[in-house]
Amino acid sequence: MLMSVFPIDDPELPLTALPETLDGIRGVDLHMHSTASDGKLSPTELANLCHARGLTHVALTDHDTIDGVDEARQQCERHGISLISAAELSCQWRGIGIHIVALLPRGVSPNFTSGLELLSRAREMRSREIAHRLEKIGLQDGLAKARLEAGSERPLGRPDFAAALVTAGLVPDRKAAFKRYLGTGKRGDVKMHWPELTTVVGWIRDAGGVAVVAHPLRYGMTRRKRDLLFSAFIDAGGEAAELVSGYQNPDSTHDLARQLDFHGLYGSVGSDFHYPGGPLSPGTISPPPRSHVKPVWCHPAMRSFADGE
Ligand code: AMP
Ligand code: MN
Ligand code: MN
Ligand code: MN
Repeated sequence: MLMSVFPIDDPELPLTALPETLDGIRGVDLHMHSTASDGKLSPTELANLCHARGLTHVALTDHDTIDGVDEARQQCERHGISLISAAELSCQWRGIGIHIVALLPRGVSPNFTSGLELLSRAREMRSREIAHRLEKIGLQDGLAKARLEAGSERPLGRPDFAAALVTAGLVPDRKAAFKRYLGTGKRGDVKMHWPELTTVVGWIRDAGGVAVVAHPLRYGMTRRKRDLLFSAFIDAGGEAAELVSGYQNPDSTHDLARQLDFHGLYGSVGSDFHYPGGPLSPGTISPPPRSHVKPVWCHPAMRSFADGE
């Protein structure tokens, strides 16, 4: 048994292991971003903030890359934080853009690494297509402008195009940029370059990792559609989904817990933190309800992460 070695709500005592239920969990965040993708903190700065916030078990899940993981791990080790190699992979299912968090207790495999290379090329092609589409609404040289906003050579994402639209005065703020042009189903939401869900889950399995459906409530799907997504995901070898991503409506979370339980999926939790100064910090999640859903750190492959070894 991992739990009850220490009373987990005693702030004086370090967590050496994680509990076997999700309710009351704290100190864990398995979904965060750094400057390796569209986050604003370097992996070192993020690790420091995680430490300041009292986190003990974390994953850096940059979009389609593990480039920040080594640096984050070095700094997490200094703080005694357990970090698991991870990434948030882009894919599509039935024409919908879906994000799958890869938790990689054994690190990457050659197939997984080729997968990341494929995703990087797909992201580049997609950026060109997004720039092309945004020309039609008045953004000239969108690719160069998005690159300027990114401020580094990292792969571009939709947030960089959102920033470019704001700077060009075409929208008042980034929120409006997503609402009008880049959000789900809008002209700048280009998914066709992403590999299929089953392909991406295959890479994760190949690396001995655990595949997690990221933020299942953020795809604008009906419950029925989400059922179909989970079934396809499980058929492909997927094993977990985020029960709580940042702030969530308690009723929706409760219902999602029932859905995960029905499908026998492990539950994960994460803030999807990108930058300080917003409503979310590392470790910020709505409290998971009491449920039968097993925490993802109870997956046999995740034991050494949970134990902080
Ligand atoms: P990409 O990986 O290039 O498709 O970009 C996806 C990222 O865009 C997400 O991880 C968020 O950081 C950001 N994003 C997606 N939807 C929104 C939204 N409605 N408002 C603000 N940012 C968003
Ligand atoms: Mn992002
Ligand atoms: Mn995501
Ligand atoms: Mn994310």
